[in-house]
Amino acid sequence: MSTLNPWGDFGIKDYSKLIQEFGITPLDETFEDLNDNKYYRRGMLVGHRDLDKFLSEAKSGKVVAILSGIKPSGIFHIGSMITAEQMIYFQKKYSNAFLFYSIADLEAYVDNGQSLDKSDEIAIYNVADMIALGMDPERAVTYKQSSALAVSDLAFIFSDDVTFNMLVDIYGERKISLYFAALVQAGDIFLPETKPFNGPKPVLVPVGADQDPHLRLARDLAAKHKEDLQLIPPSAIYHKLVRSLTGDDKMSKRTPQSMITLSDKKEELKQKIMNAFTGGRATIKEQKELGGEPEKCPVFDLYIYFAKDDMQIKNVYKECKKGVRMCGGCKNEAYGLVSNFIEDHQAKRSAAMNEAKALLKNGDSLVLKRPV
Ligand code: SF4
Repeated sequence: MSTLNPWGDFGIKDYSKLIQEFGITPLDETFEDLNDNKYYRRGMLVGHRDLDKFLSEAKSGKVVAILSGIKPSGIFHIGSMITAEQMIYFQKKYSNAFLFYSIADLEAYVDNGQSLDKSDEIAIYNVADMIALGMDPERAVTYKQSSALAVSDLAFIFSDDVTFNMLVDIYGERKISLYFAALVQAGDIFLPETKPFNGPKPVLVPVGADQDPHLRLARDLAAKHKEDLQLIPPSAIYHKLVRSLTGDDKMSKRTPQSMITLSDKKEELKQKIMNAFTGGRATIKEQKELGGEPEKCPVFDLYIYFAKDDMQIKNVYKECKKGVRMCGGCKNEAYGLVSNFIEDHQAKRSAAMNEAKALLKNGDSLVLKRPV
């Protein structure tokens, strides 16, 4: 079996192959409960593990948790926004759902060489982004991995359940620090099920599809700790990865032109969008004759993320295919959509900075308690 690198800057070309190879369940049209989720309607959600079980527990009114995190090696980009929006969607949908947001500063230290002090600064922005996107702070625990003794303790316990070969099978050959980061992530995933948070409960992890190895590891650990810690295997919902504006498979923090961040200034944003790769043809004549290829176009993707109305996306698609829409005008329209959103978001985030600081401080104190 091949491996999937959750730390890599690679794209996924064929989601159905990935789903088949790793035993992920495809997210088909049978989830009527998700019809109010824009990413579901717009085809961005590709697979899941035990989502049906999680939804039925959540609907029954039992306390459930939504968990995901961010490596604070940078400010929010569209990929981190989608994960955040997914978490917030489930938090809003179920009043019995608690949101746990891990700032993976230990992972940023080993994977990106970023100091914990720098992560402290960025973490406040990350939490403020969450608040600006609509997270309810009353039902949220936001914390840094380096403060979470409970998470490190769990990682230590889990290290007794895995061998080097098992980790190589899941992740391929990596540095020990990354294997340990994976165990710390497992600690994150099970944090909501620990004693300080009132014990076992269903947990849903919304993440990009490239993060599936972490879920496979966590589900395996849950099976091993079914009796002693009474862990429940986490459920997961996977979204497609955001494509690079430069036409590469996946955007990369190492290439700023490849991605839009929620901190971009208007000029910067305009330049990124106007220079973006498109699914357009070589000449206007060809575009009129053959139509464009929105399936290949990262500018079309911007409509999927930012359009308020599904109809707008359908129209762009149809006009592009028919050859009645040209890329210059289409980019301008996309820029308008994105810049309006980002302008509004930045104002909300500035207003949320103090609340974010306080929330993070409170979360850091909660995760110091013994997990078992
Ligand atoms: S018209 Fe728009 S959607 Fe179609 S290829 Fe050009 S930029 Fe992409």
